[in-house]
Amino acid sequence: MNNEIKVVRADILGYCMGVRRAVELAKEALESYPHKQVFTLGPLIHNKSALEQLANQGLLQLSVTDIDSINSENPPVVIVRAHGVPPAVKKALSEKNCIIIDATCPRVLLSQKRAADFAEKHYEVLIAGDKNHGEVTGIAGFAEEKGSKCQVVENVADAENISAVDKAILISQTTISRQEYEDIAAVLKTKIADLQVFNTICPATSERQKALEELCSKVEGILVIGGKNSANTQRLFMNAEKWCKGLVAHIETADEIPSSFFHLKTVGLTAGASTPDEIIDEVEDTLIKKTIE
Ligand code: SF4
Repeated sequence: MNNEIKVVRADILGYCMGVRRAVELAKEALESYPHKQVFTLGPLIHNKSALEQLANQGLLQLSVTDIDSINSENPPVVIVRAHGVPPAVKKALSEKNCIIIDATCPRVLLSQKRAADFAEKHYEVLIAGDKNHGEVTGIAGFAEEKGSKCQVVENVADAENISAVDKAILISQTTISRQEYEDIAAVLKTKIADLQVFNTICPATSERQKALEELCSKVEGILVIGGKNSANTQRLFMNAEKWCKGLVAHIETADEIPSSFFHLKTVGLTAGASTPDEIIDEVEDTLIKKTIE
């Protein structure tokens, strides 16, 4: 028996603008510098198979602690990923004569610039987000370089413990939840008279969620494609389980499609912001081509 599956993609899925740009810059670097080692500072994206593919093409990873051991006589190409890095890291790379390709997302660049500008005007810079996230440490570095004290506020409890200052700005990590940010801002407003709150949340995550919600009522099952360690893919999966009345699965590659999906008439696809187009295409092709015996 042949079961013809209709595959419907969410209106918005897969790579966000910043990740797409970073991947394209990395591919260009590999082509432009065939005789040089090309590194990214940390993983370029949160997708294992995409990283493996890039590694096969010669793209390796470097960590900040490796910079000291770079041979400045034969410096590599280093790609700064979409999260960005503190200015001190870029300076260390320049001192080693590295060819730096800056793939910092334009949205993150804006936050870095804002942090530096207000730090120069003696504002304290507060960042709502995860202390250990590369984007947050990068932005903090821009404020600190200009002499501002910078504090990271991870949650409402942290906001309550912030010592009162005269004037401050609040910036968020681009992927924080809107509700969490509003709650943190509300607490800080009671403590800081001159607090300027900037809306720096990136719409990429909510756009993918909204498109998924619309898709859920149109299909019998949803495949969420993306890295198991990708936070935004995990959130898509969680919501798909909530919104879809049929089957839901989180897969990284086409090989992981559960056999039950091949019995459905309509399957919806969504994918996290770091899922490559080729993997989405492969999942769609597999669903369409595979026949049920
Ligand atoms: S999620 Fe938004 S801010 Fe982050 S890299 Fe993508 S486009 Fe840029």
